[in-house]
Amino acid sequence: MPKIASRLSGFTESVIREMTRVADQYGAINLSQGFPDFDPPTELVAAAQRALEQGYHQYATTWGTASFRQALARKQTRFMGVEIDPDAHITVTCGSTEAMMTAMMTVCNPGDKVIVFSPFYENYAADAILSGAEPVYVPLRPPDFTFDPDELRRAFQQGVKALVLCNPANPTGKVFTLEELQQIADLAQEYDTFVLTDEVYEHIVYAPHKHTYIASLPGMFERTLSCSSLSKTYAITGWRLGYVIAPAEVTGGVRKVHDFLTVGAPHPLQHAAATALDFSDDYYDRLLVDYTRRRDLFLGYLDRAGLRYTIPQGAYYVLVDISEFGFEDDTRFCVWLAEEIGVAAVPGSSFFREPVNHLIRFHFAKREATLTTAGERLLRLKAAV
Ligand code: GLN
Repeated sequence: MPKIASRLSGFTESVIREMTRVADQYGAINLSQGFPDFDPPTELVAAAQRALEQGYHQYATTWGTASFRQALARKQTRFMGVEIDPDAHITVTCGSTEAMMTAMMTVCNPGDKVIVFSPFYENYAADAILSGAEPVYVPLRPPDFTFDPDELRRAFQQGVKALVLCNPANPTGKVFTLEELQQIADLAQEYDTFVLTDEVYEHIVYAPHKHTYIASLPGMFERTLSCSSLSKTYAITGWRLGYVIAPAEVTGGVRKVHDFLTVGAPHPLQHAAATALDFSDDYYDRLLVDYTRRRDLFLGYLDRAGLRYTIPQGAYYVLVDISEFGFEDDTRFCVWLAEEIGVAAVPGSSFFREPVNHLIRFHFAKREATLTTAGERLLRLKAAV
């Protein structure tokens, strides 16, 4: 029997996706893999139905249909404060998952080093390894999950090609401050590296925190590949619409990789989603009001259950400390939680490079009724262990 590629032994299957299977197996409420159980805006669904009737059944232009890129350029110019050109800067991908993989393959040669903050969304290490690159981990330390600037500088001194920045961050809910972003930007310029962002939670940032796009800092657009998607902002994770925004000189490379990976994102859905990209500010204000309410509802249950956690500043995840329950293995705790309490979470160890196994991650992108049922179940936790 021939052997499959040895680079696959450098990472495991996604624990996040595995926990969804565990949730399904035990019929648990799935607060593990982060996706909503509520519908996208009705206008968007209607636009998708219309798009299917209008005959967009064949491939779109590989880097994205013009109407979608134009609408995206208008929206991102508005929010990023940088002039985004639909033809020179944008490549539409199958979700930000492909955007990140494409960005990584565009900038990395085999053997290159890439800085990844730990804890991190598990895809980044896999993206680096599949690109032949080697992750260099820099810890983000609790309680505010900030980095030590000297430690970050030492990582840059190893001759890195790029840094991955997830902001707002999954799984910590951290929103990087302007000062932290400036430190990263200064080092990226000093050591002449790229920054690859994952900004899928760009519109889910709780007051008083604010999202700054690192590409908008002086000197950074030229070296940043900004990756994001419509999944979280419009509750359409299954539509698989993401994108890379890159400087003109890099976009040709991004498009080349993207074309050979997937050819293109779903054509009718690109047409439909242009509708959402033209939503007014009211939509984003409402989105935030809704997520703030979900967050506060769920955190209220964690308080009542006597659980310790880090308050999320952005995104829709919360890390909960389970050290008091005496489980040696956070994965076993999560399986037990799904089976006995009926709520699924992701073991924190799948996000950390360091041997951390006293944290689990819940997400709260769910209807209030779902969060209430999950919260009521968690109230039984202490007595059940
Ligand atoms: N970002 C989501 C999470 O962390 C999942 C995305 C995915 O599974 N593709 O749970």
